[in-house]
Amino acid sequence: MCGIVGYTGNKKAKDILISGLKNLEYRGYDSAGICLQENNELLIFKDKGRIKNLITIIDGLSPNAISGIGHTRWATHGEPNQINSHPHTDCKNSIAIVHNGIIENYTEIKKFLESKGHIFKSETDSEVISHLIEEFYEGDFKEAFLNMLKIIEGAYAILAMDKNTPNTIIGARKGSPLILGIGNNENFLVSDPSAIVGYTANVVYLDDGEVVIIKNNEFEILDPVSKKSINKKVEHISWSLKEISKDGYPDFMLKEIFEQQQTIKNAFRGRISIENYDVKLGGLKLTPKDIQDIQRVFFISCGTSWHAGIYAKYVMEDLSRIISEHEYASEFRYRNPLIKEDDIFFFISQSGETADTLAALKLVKQLNGRVYGITNVVGSSIAREAGQGVYTHAGPEIGVASTKAFTSQLVVTLLIALYFGKFRKTVPQDKLIKIIEDLNKLPDIVENFLKKNIEILKSISFKYKDISNALYLGRGLNFPIALEGALKLKEISYIHAEGYPAAEMKHGPIALIDKNFPVFVIATRELYEKVISNIEEVKARGAKVVAIANEGDKKITKLADDVIFVPELEYHVQPIINVIPLQLIAYYIASFKGKDVDKPRNLAKSVTVE
Ligand code: GLU
Repeated sequence: MCGIVGYTGNKKAKDILISGLKNLEYRGYDSAGICLQENNELLIFKDKGRIKNLITIIDGLSPNAISGIGHTRWATHGEPNQINSHPHTDCKNSIAIVHNGIIENYTEIKKFLESKGHIFKSETDSEVISHLIEEFYEGDFKEAFLNMLKIIEGAYAILAMDKNTPNTIIGARKGSPLILGIGNNENFLVSDPSAIVGYTANVVYLDDGEVVIIKNNEFEILDPVSKKSINKKVEHISWSLKEISKDGYPDFMLKEIFEQQQTIKNAFRGRISIENYDVKLGGLKLTPKDIQDIQRVFFISCGTSWHAGIYAKYVMEDLSRIISEHEYASEFRYRNPLIKEDDIFFFISQSGETADTLAALKLVKQLNGRVYGITNVVGSSIAREAGQGVYTHAGPEIGVASTKAFTSQLVVTLLIALYFGKFRKTVPQDKLIKIIEDLNKLPDIVENFLKKNIEILKSISFKYKDISNALYLGRGLNFPIALEGALKLKEISYIHAEGYPAAEMKHGPIALIDKNFPVFVIATRELYEKVISNIEEVKARGAKVVAIANEGDKKITKLADDVIFVPELEYHVQPIINVIPLQLIAYYIASFKGKDVDKPRNLAKSVTVE
């Protein structure tokens, strides 16, 4: 949430900041702003709304500044207006800051600073940072910055500039991501690598509690308490410009839905062997004995990743016969959980930066639990904090509504369940063979499905585009798919939708059903007859039914108003394709309604605040 970018080098900072912010815009789009340092002055340009508004303000201006900081906001404190936009300054416009996160003790700090005569312009928590630096400033920017850090509490990635310390940016992180990009006589500080793709591939992932100072041709990472330099590994990122562009698609979301034919393969490539029906996972660092001894597996996550966690629980328990749980990270971390020595914990997050998931991971570590990451972004905080786990390798996901990352999470958690089952001898060979064969076929099946079904999906979406409510039903492994289908629809089209286990619907939601309340039902083979009865129940109340069913199912065509057919697959693999038509229905309904599918209102990618 929120993107920050800092640049100091030999090129025009304005252009680099704007291009970086455009690539970070999916992280927040309430407002955008930049600060440029020119002739010992700080020039601030900012506006509410999208980056295009900021561009309108600065279009035609050609400042020569070669250093600056920028921000694209997802508001937590203070409405998304021009004044609350970042960068924020001190009273004298000498210090400018951008901030991602929440300063939890800002009320006390603000009171203290006001008593010292500071005048605040915004309602944000962030503004206390620039005033605190001002308060501590005695001619040494670095000292003032370090003193400010001693006071603030909460989560942050901060960049700051001082008009009297030319071409220097100081950054700090605790709980929010910050990456140093190292170029040729230029350096960058950014929230994620998308902001520097095309400029440099050399990065240092900063850790919590570290401070970084960049100048045109040097950088220093230091410990804010001892003030000693820290030596860190320079790593290489592999993101390409093609991966972070729309590549001919109208939206990132559609591009990412279509990429699933490839990303599903990337999730299992090198991990399954079709010759000897084996599963290998290098990143888990567990011996066969460790796997034998596991008593409980937890999957902890938020949002779409939480739906993957439900699927993971079901497949893990089924295939490895280990008691499994799924939890919301935000609940788990505050419920004083009991952890045992033989439990293991997986933390699922596309970005690897989700604040609650990261905090839950840190809590389990503190309690001496064993932690593993399932993340998409290599080098992300969760991946590094866990130190072991499995990457989903779906490539950058930029559409705010997650699609390809979800199907990759399903593949990866299925592989983990099979891997554990292999050592525990709980997966019958014929089942193992069928799962591996079907997984291996899945990318081609997805490709074919997408080729054949777009027109029917568009026409169904058009038919239902004006609904106000929808119910999504599924059972077993298709229950999390129903939840995910409903979430996609509400996220990007703002239509109220609920996902329910199909049988559970009788315990409440059925009261809502009438002819204007369509029901989307996943009716593939698993528990088929039971689901059919549930369809009969809603039909009897006048509901329109849209079904996802297996090819060749004649019964369903008589029952449902609309049917989308998917090929039949082994039942652990089946949900991975079942979600794709639901993603597309949400996409097309939102597009027909003229919504901005990539940047739905009030949402942002990578939820780095609690
Ligand atoms: N808390 C700050 C604000 O509301 C920063 C939010 C963000 O991370 O964008 O402005």
